[in-house]
Amino acid sequence: MSVIDEIKARIDIVDLVSETVQLRRTGKNYSGFCPFHPNQRTPAFAVFSDSGTWRCFGQCNEGGDIFKFMMKKEGWEFPEAMRYLAERAGVQLHVPTEQEKVEAEEHENLRNLLEGAVTFYRHQLFNTPAGKLALDYLQQKRNLTIETLETFGIGYAPGSWDAALNFFNAKGYSTADLVAVGLVTEREPGKNPVGVIQKADVYDRFRHRVMFPIRDEKGRIAGFGARILNPEDIPKFLNSPQTPLFDKSRLLYGLDLARRAIRTLDQAVIVEGYLDVIALHQAGFSNVVSPMGTALTEQQLFLLKRYSKRIVLALDPDAAGNQATLRGLQIARQAMDHEQDPIFDARGLLGYEARLQADIRVTTLPLGLDPDEVVGRDPKEWERIIAEARPVVIHVMEALSADRNLDDPKVKNQIAAQVLPLINDVPSAIERDTYLQRLARLLRVSERALQEIATSSRRPRPSGHRPVRKPAEQLLAPAQIPAAISSYSLEAYCLGILLRRPDLLYQVDRRMQNGRLPRLSPEDFLHADHQAILRVFQESVEQDMAEPLNFVLNSLSLAMMELADNMLDRTAKLDPQDERVIEDLMRGLLTLRRRRIDQELEYRRFLIVEAQEAGDLKATQDAQTVVKLAKVRRFIDEALKEYTSRSTTGVRQQ
Ligand SMILES: [Zn+2]
Repeated sequence: MSVIDEIKARIDIVDLVSETVQLRRTGKNYSGFCPFHPNQRTPAFAVFSDSGTWRCFGQCNEGGDIFKFMMKKEGWEFPEAMRYLAERAGVQLHVPTEQEKVEAEEHENLRNLLEGAVTFYRHQLFNTPAGKLALDYLQQKRNLTIETLETFGIGYAPGSWDAALNFFNAKGYSTADLVAVGLVTEREPGKNPVGVIQKADVYDRFRHRVMFPIRDEKGRIAGFGARILNPEDIPKFLNSPQTPLFDKSRLLYGLDLARRAIRTLDQAVIVEGYLDVIALHQAGFSNVVSPMGTALTEQQLFLLKRYSKRIVLALDPDAAGNQATLRGLQIARQAMDHEQDPIFDARGLLGYEARLQADIRVTTLPLGLDPDEVVGRDPKEWERIIAEARPVVIHVMEALSADRNLDDPKVKNQIAAQVLPLINDVPSAIERDTYLQRLARLLRVSERALQEIATSSRRPRPSGHRPVRKPAEQLLAPAQIPAAISSYSLEAYCLGILLRRPDLLYQVDRRMQNGRLPRLSPEDFLHADHQAILRVFQESVEQDMAEPLNFVLNSLSLAMMELADNMLDRTAKLDPQDERVIEDLMRGLLTLRRRRIDQELEYRRFLIVEAQEAGDLKATQDAQTVVKLAKVRRFIDEALKEYTSRSTTGVRQQ
């Protein structure tokens, strides 16, 4: 008899299922309402005691044995269901090693200590004068009921340096144990060998704060989140440190209480704060969880996905909008002064979505309102906000274009430059096309133009990973620039030349003017990072404090440095002293400029057609602009001809 057979023989499926589903005898079998899909009218769920199996004949149209039932009910993989049922059946799966036994005992001991801390902080909240202040805050300012506070095990850490320390020492826990679970902090970490930490060397980590116990999805205590009461205290939120039990990248606040609702509603909602989770649960929206004040991790989404693949991020509007914008400019998130770290990273989310095959959507809260204020005002409003959630790409498009002048070609270019890389990341061709259509309509440019930019704008991976070093690109020899070269590469190449020869900037400007063209400007580049770098170049030649190259390297941020590095790579095979290098550069810059003009021409023509269709047959202003642009384009073409007709440069073929 296999272990599986033995477990099945020892557990009666009717007993097991009855704990979740109210079963009634139907002939020799049993029936009830399916626990896996919402329906209280048809009892579509059947249990066959003879074969030890179950089946839903309704929406799920699915069935199996006791293992499958536990997997579906708990969102477990087979091994977890096996472990659980084996223990329940009293079947030994494998004999744990000595080390595993010791470790399991230690964890058990630490969890007991943390459970003790939940009780300790809870007592402080409900039964002490100092806790009364916190209790008033939670009840009056946050409108939380006693029942809610108890469900979530909320407590209060007194404003003392040693209250928890003394309490748990007196209970027989060692100071080392208290350090291990993060209840106390060492004054000088590493001063004492592990296990013999002196009481005098530590102090209570949580002082005068509201305490939120954080549990894993099975309800096992892992650590605490703590929020200030005194507005002057910092930080506003403080979590347990990383401990053997607390790994915040693998935990979601409230999941132990939310997982049933998430499965029943087939939707999980992620909000930014602990108090948001609690308020929404109190209002009857129990499918809500929150990360621990960090960007969402793949492990967290993986956890959620066991219960539902449909995930909605409900974001604070500032965060959602600014982060979409800032991310595009690759500004480090540390620079942002936000209550918690952002949980929104469009590009990261798209990657997770594809890998986990989940459906991730984004919605924003009304400006200035917390979720508890929204549900307090009208629970229907919360339902509406969630129903309005949109795919990540659409959300970014809308956040970027809100309050912008979409008639301005530069604004269009900026938005396209930020959204196209996201669209490129979407694995489904159909979805990609849909987003391109939306973007074309939003920016009022033709889809074809966007398609072309889209296929040529695959950019190096953003911050975090070091870009893969490419061999130097042979962009410009022979003297024709292939149409397929992306603007991104071309811009980077031109900047790479300037990085080696900043003095060429003067020559470029003189040559532009000779060709009746305006001098080089950051606006000649589509990509914001490149614009910033060119600005630094221009400053570098206008100062005389340092060598231009040193000035540039000193002025660039770390993220930009990486780009600059990459640019130097691209032009590694170039001999910067070869005077013909300027011709390469001019060809590149003129090509970039012409692409911009073509883009604007196309847009203006689009506007004229639109105006004519609407009855304005003249559309004079746009017509005039078209004439002007066409003239500039002619100058560019003339200049380009001059550079392409000459022999090519010293750039060697590979
Ligand atoms: Zn069902």
